[in-house]
Amino acid sequence: MLILDGKIASAAVKARLLEQTKALAEAGKRTPHLAAILVGNNGASETYVASKVKNCDETGFGSSLIRFNDDVTEAELLAKINELNADHSVDGILVQLPLPKHINDEKVIEAIHPDKDVDGFHPMNIGRMVQGFDTFIPATPYGVLLMLEHFNIETKGKHVVVIGRSNIVGRPMSILLSGERPQGNAHVTICHRHTPKQETIKMAQQADILIVAVGIPEFVTADMIKPGAVIIDVGITRVEDATAKKGFRIKGDVNYEQAITKASAVTPVPGGVGLMTIAGLLKNTMKAYEGKFYHV
Ligand code: NAD
Repeated sequence: MLILDGKIASAAVKARLLEQTKALAEAGKRTPHLAAILVGNNGASETYVASKVKNCDETGFGSSLIRFNDDVTEAELLAKINELNADHSVDGILVQLPLPKHINDEKVIEAIHPDKDVDGFHPMNIGRMVQGFDTFIPATPYGVLLMLEHFNIETKGKHVVVIGRSNIVGRPMSILLSGERPQGNAHVTICHRHTPKQETIKMAQQADILIVAVGIPEFVTADMIKPGAVIIDVGITRVEDATAKKGFRIKGDVNYEQAITKASAVTPVPGGVGLMTIAGLLKNTMKAYEGKFYHV
């Protein structure tokens, strides 16, 4: 059984990026810069953004963290995005989701200039991705592709079952894996909340590669896994646990202890796809930097 260790795979991606930023610095050029916007003080969002900033530091990227209270108006947030769009020293912009209810996610996502949309959520970039054009791939599905590439997991002709159809994980994941591309050419089935449970179980049991992004801790149990399958667990849920130091534990969407008894390869949670998402984000930020027609 192979543990698809996100620490190992993301370290390889980051080492290559660090070489690039070192070369840029030696040539007297500025390095890529990511601007992250965080609204409010949601614990999980704070952790994710802090980790993104830390990873920028580790790879020689510049970063800025822009914080707003959760009573920020939509207009104020959009004005800040416009300012960052116009700032030539900023290559990538990300707005950590979820946003407070009074702010329209769609407007915010569309306000980010497509050339700086390093999370890959802008409809223009999603459209380019669907057509197989060069673009920013949404960071989490990109991270999964990088994971599959790192561990040489063949997808061509394989039956991949994706459980979950969100715009940020399941749907782009299914489109990418069915596309004509490296880490693509798979036969993809997608299941979601309206797929009858028995059908989801039946599909999962036939999956050569099972990708789970539902946000329900330990949704996938041993009986749903085909012997020898590759299991990619995207889920991250904080589950209260009084015995844990922080008062909670991070759980994936797959029962890991059961999965390792049947699968040939499994991503751990934490330490799996989450780390690869950051690797995908950094690669997109480097791509945004390289795509500019000017360099400072
Ligand atoms: P979401 O809530 O937007 O989507 C969940 C999806 O699961 C929906 O498409 C829904 O149809 C499907 N679903 C719900 N119940 C189901 C059921 N019983 N059977 C089949 N499908 C069902 O969530 P999301 O944003 O896609 O995130 C999913 C999980 O992945 C969450 O735990 C989230 O925290 C995690 N996540 C992790 C990363 C990472 O970097 N590892 C990134 C994004 C999200």
